[in-house]
Amino acid sequence: MTKILNSEEDSKCSDDYQDVNSTKKETSEEEPNKSIDSIADIVNEDDFNSFGFSKDLVHTLTKKGYKSPTPIQKAAIPELMLGRDLLGQAQTGTGKTAAFALPILERIKTNKGDPQVLVLAPTRELAMQVAESFNAYSEGHPEIKVLAVYGGSDFRSQINSLRRGVNIVVGTPGRVMDHMRQGTLAKNSLKTLVLDEADEMLRMGFIDDIEWILEQLPEEKQMILFSATMPSEIRRLSKRYLEDPAEITIKSKKKDAKLIRQRYITIQNSHKLDALKRILETSTEEAVIIFARTKLITQRLAEALEVANYNVAVLNGDVPQNLRERTVERLRIGGIDILVATDVAARGLDVERIELVINYDMPFDTEAYIHRIGRTGRAGRSGEAILFVSPRERSYLSNFERVAGQKIEQMDIPNNEYINKFRLEKLKKSLRDESSADENGELIIFTKLIEEMEEEYKMEAKELAINALKLATGKSNLLIDEDESWLKQQDNFKRRNDRHDDRNRSRRKNNRFESAMTERDKNRYRLEVGHRDHVKPGNIVGAIANESGLKGKMIGRIQIFNDYSLVDLPKGMPNEIFQNLKRVKIMNKELNISIFN
Ligand code: AMP
Repeated sequence: MTKILNSEEDSKCSDDYQDVNSTKKETSEEEPNKSIDSIADIVNEDDFNSFGFSKDLVHTLTKKGYKSPTPIQKAAIPELMLGRDLLGQAQTGTGKTAAFALPILERIKTNKGDPQVLVLAPTRELAMQVAESFNAYSEGHPEIKVLAVYGGSDFRSQINSLRRGVNIVVGTPGRVMDHMRQGTLAKNSLKTLVLDEADEMLRMGFIDDIEWILEQLPEEKQMILFSATMPSEIRRLSKRYLEDPAEITIKSKKKDAKLIRQRYITIQNSHKLDALKRILETSTEEAVIIFARTKLITQRLAEALEVANYNVAVLNGDVPQNLRERTVERLRIGGIDILVATDVAARGLDVERIELVINYDMPFDTEAYIHRIGRTGRAGRSGEAILFVSPRERSYLSNFERVAGQKIEQMDIPNNEYINKFRLEKLKKSLRDESSADENGELIIFTKLIEEMEEEYKMEAKELAINALKLATGKSNLLIDEDESWLKQQDNFKRRNDRHDDRNRSRRKNNRFESAMTERDKNRYRLEVGHRDHVKPGNIVGAIANESGLKGKMIGRIQIFNDYSLVDLPKGMPNEIFQNLKRVKIMNKELNISIFN
């Protein structure tokens, strides 16, 4: 039986989703229309009470402001409450974490000390987030212990926590394997396994690790697999390990992307920072996220913006986990307004205040572009995205338009005239809106002062107002008068691009961007880890991807020998990344990467 939620049901759901499509295997052949083989068919799914959740959980959800389940929750929770396996196709932002976390929490037996639930996630950021969600949802049950285990965090303290007793473990595959091998993570007690963002784990080269982990688990268990896309490898995995799973597909609305206005500027590298400042000065958005390619660039940008008096912070792989969490919290509550981030560090970031995404450096591929612009337009808000494109990168634009399903408009970089108009309007507005309420009794003093000045110096109110404005605007020049001749060059790019664009559109090849990226010449590198260190390709891909921001698929052939390994990476690796990669550790050994000739 295929269950398709109709549009009426759909309209009750949050606006973020559409096309809910839940397929369930039929068990009752006689009465297909009334077959009640799961709770899903009998409950009123409009609030969380109908799932048979405990009072505590419903209370926690109400406190969190969750009014009704999202489509994925409506479809998945009843199945998972029955203990069924589940194959879910859903992206972040659909409420998928709660879809599996809530039924898991309701079914867990806390009197058992050994872990009953294992969640595998591709990155430490996601592992942290999922563990946090479990903690938040189990607020009414402090006896439920959740632990996140991921590379880069202290192994000893993880072992100590595991010894003290943990019910739910959320981890990245590499670290989970390490714990299983060492016997510090009990395997036989595991009753539920969740693979979250399975396609991302596949892309990062973790598939062998996942299969290894799956082989370690007891035969009898519930398996839940979530993936944003369903590549054949994930299908194969689900066929092999999932038993009669409920299948649910949530397609995010194309309309979502359309809520985001997407524009680009053509800009030479040497003028990028200037253009960025001009755009920021004239933007009216609440909070902004700026994406840059390397950690070094994020650092430099943040410093430059700090000098320009912005409340700015950096989010990159060098920022320790606890500081990252605090930074995101500060952004959420308005302590900072601009975040300069790398792709990896900003994965899954969900802050409603972000209304503008600036792609200071072009993303590595179309997927990263969609992920980046998805940081805005959260919770049904509209958002803006601006892409910086160098003249040479211009041909990739059409691929971003294709995946975004809309045209990316050309935008003018604000010139002096525009900025000055903006500044004056702002000043006018603040003069108009300045409260004339007399909070500290200053009004009487000021009025008296002006009257005295008019009297004593024979000055007019207008003259006095001008002087007051001069004082208020301080020493900084009210109007900008910087060299803007380079902006004229942008106009030339524009004219050339328009012509180029017309020609290009007519013979656009869909996969040009991907192929241009993947076929780019690669260099071969040597890493000082090998079979003797028990290294697997997944470890290498994971470490390099996390450190360099390269997507798994940009990482080429990997050959592992006894005491070293070889890997192909795109040419032109920035020196900073190269130096950082030298120090990255796999299996506790530094990679000490070097060019291999
Ligand atoms: P996820 O797709 O799991 O990354 O969740 C996206 C966001 O939606 C998170 O910030 C959740 O806290 C939030 N969320 C999940 N379920 C609901 C719900 N039923 N109502 C409101 N917000 C929700």
